This record gives sequence, C-alpha cells and structure tokens, in this order.
Amino acid sequence: MSATEAIANGKRIVIKVGSALLTDKARGELNQAWVDDFSAKICAFLKDHKEIIIVSSGAVALGRKEMGISSDIPPGKIPLPLKQAASAVGQPHVFNGYALAFAKHGVGVAQVLLTMGETENRRTHLNARATLQELVSKGIVPIINENDTILTEELRFGDNDRLAARVAQMIEADTVILLTTTSGLYTADPGTDPKAEHIPVVETVTEEHIKMAGDALPGLSTGGMRSKIEAAQAATRAGISLVIAGSFDGKCTLFKAMEHAPNSRKRWIATHMHPKGVLVIDAGALKALKEGKSLLPIGVKKIEGDFERGDAVTIKTADGKIVGIGLSAYASEDALKIIGKKTAEIHEILGFSGRDALVHRNDMALQT
Ligand code: GLU
Repeated sequence: MSATEAIANGKRIVIKVGSALLTDKARGELNQAWVDDFSAKICAFLKDHKEIIIVSSGAVALGRKEMGISSDIPPGKIPLPLKQAASAVGQPHVFNGYALAFAKHGVGVAQVLLTMGETENRRTHLNARATLQELVSKGIVPIINENDTILTEELRFGDNDRLAARVAQMIEADTVILLTTTSGLYTADPGTDPKAEHIPVVETVTEEHIKMAGDALPGLSTGGMRSKIEAAQAATRAGISLVIAGSFDGKCTLFKAMEHAPNSRKRWIATHMHPKGVLVIDAGALKALKEGKSLLPIGVKKIEGDFERGDAVTIKTADGKIVGIGLSAYASEDALKIIGKKTAEIHEILGFSGRDALVHRNDMALQT
C-alpha cells in the first residue's frame, strides 16, 4: 500500500509535512517547487472529495538564515528563545509557500497555530475543532503548525508528528500521513545497517517498534522516527490509521487502526461538538459518577435543551461545572418526567420500561 492508496481509503485525512521536505537546505529557503508539486496533489485529492488538513513543519528551519543559526546545529541544540524567534521569522515563509501554491488551483488556505495546552483544554479544543470543521466544510485547507513562539519547553509538543495525531483525534480524521525523508519503519537504521529491512505493515505498535526507531535525528528533523512511532501509537489506539511515507507513491509503513480501540467510543463521546442538552446533577450523583457508576434519574435535578434518545448531553453540577458528556438513554420529554424519581418508578411514570440509567456509564466520558 502507498500513501495515495491510504488516502483513497479515507475521507478526512491529516497530512504532516516534515521540515526537510519543504526546505532547500543549501539555501536555507523554502523549496517552492516541492510545495507546488505537493499542493497540486492535495488539490487532486480535494477534487476526489477528500477532506485534507495539513500539519506543516518548517518554521524553525526557514527562520534560521535570518536569525543567523547555522544549518549544522540540530533543532534540539538551538536555545529555546532563539528557536522561538526563528519560528516567528520562518512561519510566514511556510504559510506563504502554501498560499501561493494553492492559489494557483483557486483553493484557499488558513493558518492555524495550536499548542498542546489548547488541544487538551476542553473549551479551546472544542473551539479549535469547530474552526477546523468550518474551514474544511468550505473547502479551505488548514495549514497547522505548533505555536512555537509562546511555548515553554514543558508545554510544547516539540514535534509535529504527535501534533498531527492529536489534530486527527480532535477532528475525527480516519487517516494520518506523516510525509518525511524515509519510506517508513525499518528493522534497523537503513543508513548504517545494510541488513535493515523495510516493514510495510504494523498491526499493533509495540515496545519493539519503538526500539527499532532509535533516537537518531537526521538533519533538520525534530522528532525523528521515535516521535513518529509514538504518534502512530496514539493514532491507532484512537482508531485512526497512520502511514509513514517518503512520497505519495513510494513504499511506506502502514500502522493499522485498532478496530476496537478500547477508548475510541468514549473519545468519540468526549469530542462531541454540539451536545443537545444539559443534565444538572446533585452531589450524590457526582460521587457515583466519579466511582464509575451510571447516572440514575434520581440524581438529576434539572434538564435543559431539547434532545432525542441517544443524543449527547453535557453533565454539569448545580454550580455549572462540567462533569462530562454522555449519551442520554431518554429523550428530553421523557427525561423531564423521571428526574428525581427512583428507577423502579420509571415504568409507572412513562408507561414503558426504558433503561435504568439516564446515562449509562459506558455511554459517558467524564472530564478529568
Ligand atoms: N514546529 C516546528 C517548526 O515548524 C517543527 C516541529 C517538527 O519538526 O516536528 O519548525
């Protein structure tokens, strides 16, 4: 399988571009010809009704020259403030390269700079998600990078591989393609070991794969193979397949999505964009939920919104704190009649026996 075939099998695809690909290392400038060629391929995918989100590196690499950082210094060795300044200088070059290339096809692009904190904070995560959905729905291609300039070492992803996996989870993409300078994972470093064998498919990421990846960081790359394997682990566990490839049509390594990713349903529930209503719960119910129990009607004090059975609802405490999101086992009309009542009374009140819980624990993702 090639990256193009993986894209053909998907619908919403995150494609990550490594710094080395779009940088002309000798000149320390953008390789516009590469970006043009890449963008033309993306436009062909768009015509094929694919939704494409690009995560692009290159800010630090393209800011080096103006900041006087020699191309021999690996990114990990550049002092953080200098690196952040370089990324501020280089990011406009990255974005401009894409803007020019996509404009030739009449396709709009949008710059989105994200931080790890924002993808982990529910509110900003939902905001970023909504923005990305909006852009994609209008046929605009988001060009995402980490917001390098404002981050401290602890708060950074540091590499765009894991950022790409996180973005894919955020927007429920089905496939991630990490485009890099190698054609995937090898049993050993192919640069130094002639016996190194290419691995076309990985069913499940294990410690062994992480060991194979090693710590080598070629040239301008930040993450190397290790961060790619970590990204593969995160993505596949969330039910997203991930491909590491050197080009769209060459050989690659496919990391298969876990079909029954243990947390994928909860993750899906947790990432609902527009819950249809609110269930306000009491202290007893809050305690029960924290112990992993279901939400019974008796623990619900108030209901807001109009929802059907199976719709997502936000679960809140009386003082407005969000506890989590769940799928309601009852439509709001029925739920209103049974809140504050014992489960045994449901049948008598509604005239039918529904589920014991208003939100079953398996249908609930608590916010921690
Ligand atoms: N955000 C960094 C940049 O644009 C790149 C991180 C990475 O290479 O993964 O330079």
